Amino acid sequence: FIKEKIYGKRVVMALVSTELASTDVDTVKRILKKAKDAAQFKIPVGCQFGSEFIQGLSIEETALLLNIDEEEHPELMEELYKTAKFIKEKIYGKRVVMFAPLYTANECINGCLYCGFSCHNKDSPRTVLDSSQVAADARAIVKQGHKRTLMLCGESPKYPFDSFVDAMVATNAVRDEKGSSIRRINVEVPTLSVSDMKRLKATDSIGTVALFQESYHRPTFAKVHSSGPKADYDFRITNMDRSNKGGIDDVGLGVLYGLYDYKWDTLAMIMHGAHLDKNWGTGPHTVSVPRIQPAKDAPLSHVVPYPVNDKQFKKIVAVLRSEAMRDELLQLGVSQLSAASRTDPGAYSKGEEEKEVQTKVGTTEDEGQFELSDHRSLDEVVRDLMKKGFIPSFCTGCYRSGRTGEVFMNFAKSGAIGNYCQPNALLTLAEYLIDYASPETQKIGWELIGKEMENIPSESRKKSFMKKLDMIKIKGVRDLYF
Ligand code: SF4
Ligand code: SF4
Repeated sequence: FIKEKIYGKRVVMALVSTELASTDVDTVKRILKKAKDAAQFKIPVGCQFGSEFIQGLSIEETALLLNIDEEEHPELMEELYKTAKFIKEKIYGKRVVMFAPLYTANECINGCLYCGFSCHNKDSPRTVLDSSQVAADARAIVKQGHKRTLMLCGESPKYPFDSFVDAMVATNAVRDEKGSSIRRINVEVPTLSVSDMKRLKATDSIGTVALFQESYHRPTFAKVHSSGPKADYDFRITNMDRSNKGGIDDVGLGVLYGLYDYKWDTLAMIMHGAHLDKNWGTGPHTVSVPRIQPAKDAPLSHVVPYPVNDKQFKKIVAVLRSEAMRDELLQLGVSQLSAASRTDPGAYSKGEEEKEVQTKVGTTEDEGQFELSDHRSLDEVVRDLMKKGFIPSFCTGCYRSGRTGEVFMNFAKSGAIGNYCQPNALLTLAEYLIDYASPETQKIGWELIGKEMENIPSESRKKSFMKKLDMIKIKGVRDLYF
C-alpha cells in the first residue's frame, strides 16, 4: 500500500527511462522555460528550493533535470542555475530566514551509521538537558538575536517525549533582558504517534515538524539503520500523515545526501511531498537537503557510499555548513539558513570564550552530531549576507497570524507572499540591528533597509511599513509584522 501510494508504478518507469536516456538539450531547455513561466504566474509553496522549483513540472521532467550531466553540459547547468535563481527571487525576493538549532539531548538508542550520537559510539559523551538547562541555551540563542529555533533530540527512554514537551514549554517562556523571545519553535524529533502529535500541537508554540527519511531507498535505509526503533521504515515514512492527523499541517521532509543515489532519493522525496499534498491538501513546508558530514566514530560519514560532488550538490541545492558553498547556494535558491550553530546539547550557554578558543586552534566540534565548518557568529553571518545584497530575516509572521498549511498555500499561490516577506524581513532586521548588532553591522543594515524599502511592492504597504518602522525605532515597540 505504502509503496504504491508513494512511488507508484509510473514513477518507477520514469526513473528507469531517465537513467538510460542521454541528456536531450532541447527538452531540458523547454523544461527550464516551463519552470520559469510557472513562477511568473503561480507561486508555489515551500521555504526552500526543492518544492519551489518542481512546481509545474512532472516527475519525469524533474528527473530529466536531475539527469543533466554536469561535465558534459556546463551550459545547461548554467541555465539551470539561472532559472533557479530567477524563481527564488521571484517568490521570496532577497530575504534569507535565519534560525538556530537547539539540541536538547544526545542520548540515542538508534544505530545510524552516519551519526556521532549513534548508540554504537560508546565513547561519545551523552547529555540530557533538563528544562532549566534548555532554557539557558535558549536564552543564549535569543541573546544572539535569533527569533526562530529548531529543537532536536535523539531517541531514548532516558529522554522521554514528556521531557521534550517540557523543554519546548521552557523555551517558549524564555525572555532576555530586552524582553525578546523565541517566536517560533520548529522541531526535529523521532517518529511520533498521533496522540503525541496532538500533544505537540497543544504546546501552542509548534511551527514545523520536520523528519528526514534520510534515504527513501528501502535496502539502503535498512543497511544504514541497523538497530533501534528508527529501523522501522514504514513507521517513519508515515510520520507526516500522523502529524496531519494530529492537527499539525506544517511539515518538513529531508534526504541525507550521500547514503544513496541522489537522483533517486530526490525524486522519491518529491513523490512523498506529492502524496502529502494529495491526501492532506498541503505539501511539505520545507524540504531539507543536508549532505553527510564527518562525525566522530560514525563509519559511514568517513566512507560515504554515494558521495555527491559540489556540482551535483548545487543541482539539488543544499544548506551546507561551509561558507564558500553557502554563498553559491544562496544565489541559487536557499531561503533559510542556520547561523552560529552548535550541535552539542548545552553548548550555547557554555559561553563565547570557549568557542573562540576552539575556532582559533582550528579544532572541530567532534563531540557534536556532525562537525561544523562555519564558525562565524550571527553578527558576522548577517553582515556578510547584507554585503552580498541579501536581507537576513527573522520573520515569523505567517505562523503568528495563522497562515500555515493549506491557508498558507492558498495565500502563497495567489502571489501575495512577496508583499509580506519583504516588509517583514526589513522590520525584523531593524529590530535585530537595534537590539543585537555591532556598529559595523548596524551601518550596513540601515543602508540596506533604506534601499530595500523602495522595493516593497504596493504603495499602501510601504506606507504602513514606514509607520511600523518608526514604532520600532522611536517607540521601542517589537514584534510587528504583516
Ligand atoms: Fe540518533 Fe538521530 Fe543520530 Fe540516528 S541520526 S543516531 S536517531 S541522533
Ligand atoms: Fe516566512 Fe515571514 Fe515570508 Fe511568511 S512572511 S513566508 S513567515 S518570511
